[in-house]
Amino acid sequence: KIGDRYVQIIFGSDMDEKVLLLIDLTTMKKYENLKKDFIANVSHELKTPLAAMKLSLETLEEECKDREIAQKFVNKAMERVKYMEQLIEDLITLSMLESVGFQVNLKEIQFKAFIQKLVSDLSEIAQSKNVKIEVDIPENVKIKTDEKMIHAIMKNLIDNAIKYNKEGGKVTVTFKELKNEVEISVCDTGIGIPKSHIPFIFERFYRVERSRSRKLGGTGLGLSIVKLATERLNGKVEVESEEGKGTCFKIYLPK
Ligand code: ADP
Repeated sequence: KIGDRYVQIIFGSDMDEKVLLLIDLTTMKKYENLKKDFIANVSHELKTPLAAMKLSLETLEEECKDREIAQKFVNKAMERVKYMEQLIEDLITLSMLESVGFQVNLKEIQFKAFIQKLVSDLSEIAQSKNVKIEVDIPENVKIKTDEKMIHAIMKNLIDNAIKYNKEGGKVTVTFKELKNEVEISVCDTGIGIPKSHIPFIFERFYRVERSRSRKLGGTGLGLSIVKLATERLNGKVEVESEEGKGTCFKIYLPK
């Protein structure tokens, strides 16, 4: 280690020549460390719900004569199973987005109908919080994009806009055509994100409030999927937020 860099030094010599080779391993080390952190995080994320499930099932085994108590512990275990299912699904999406041979599959989609279907798939969670979703997209707008990726992006953004909203709040999805790109925004009237946390929210497993995210079934991977999928579509993502007032995520995609 020289300063903050990792260098491999190889020395070779024969009768009349000497060779000194310096190889900068800093980038490789950085990825190695990121991978180690990621595996440690995944293991922790899986261990916590498993321990909770085990406890629920053990209690169920002992208390199974009482139907009401049994139901309570089945519900708890089921919640964790659903969380683990979502975590595995998110990990599969991330590894697909990161795979070397990954290719985008562009096709034209009717954007308004696509968002309306997504909103209807999320209506149960929206209703449970009494959140209204407004879709402000002109009729017949078509965008050429990868359907799987735009689905992952929009599902995570709208899902978060509902989850981190206030009871009776609002979510607005809008579409704007700019000169060289399109702007898709998802705005909410929710709890907002403190300024100091904004630079980190796209990192894997980063949550502003761990317990709130967990309670809402969040895996901490949603926004990292949004960022990676947007980049794969040669776009960018921006966020504006005010604590206690709400948040706007904006996606810019090339036309
Ligand atoms: P999670 O599964 O925890 O929702 P995400 O990667 O989707 O993970 O988001 C990371 C964190 O960013 C969340 O835990 C939450 O603290 C914050 N966040 C994301 N979207 C919003 C939003 N619309 N309003 C407020 N906070 C948000």
